[in-house]
Amino acid sequence: MSCIFCDISEGKAAADFIFKDGDVFAIRDVHPAAPTHILIIPRKHVASLAEMEWVADTNLVSKMVATAVDVARKVSISERGYRLVWNCRADGGQTVSHIHLHLLGGRQMKWPPG
Ligand code: 5GP
Ligand code: ZN
Repeated sequence: MSCIFCDISEGKAAADFIFKDGDVFAIRDVHPAAPTHILIIPRKHVASLAEMEWVADTNLVSKMVATAVDVARKVSISERGYRLVWNCRADGGQTVSHIHLHLLGGRQMKWPPG
């Protein structure tokens, strides 16, 4: 089964990388929903939060959040603030079935989300 985020992870598809290491990478979203919109993605293919193996993958989730916090500082949105979003499955608005964390900033966010 093809997966765009696995293809990006393996260098088979292009992306604008902000950060990468052996576990996770951060890329600019191709259809930004805010002035700054970055995706933090694990190299391991997991379809959604609902498929996470929570004991084995707890460190990976922590690393994704820590990466988002670091990247927010790096792209200078940390001081004013930002939003982290996990979309899970259809009702959550998930469109790519490879887990990812959205980092959104550069404008005032609204609540409740749409
Ligand atoms: P979801 O809707 O699943 O929570 O988020 C998927 C995100 O991935 C969307 O914001 C969409 O714009 C982004 N996206 C989909 N395909 C690509 C791609 O090929 N490259 C990049 N950089 N972002 C993508
Ligand atoms: Zn994948």
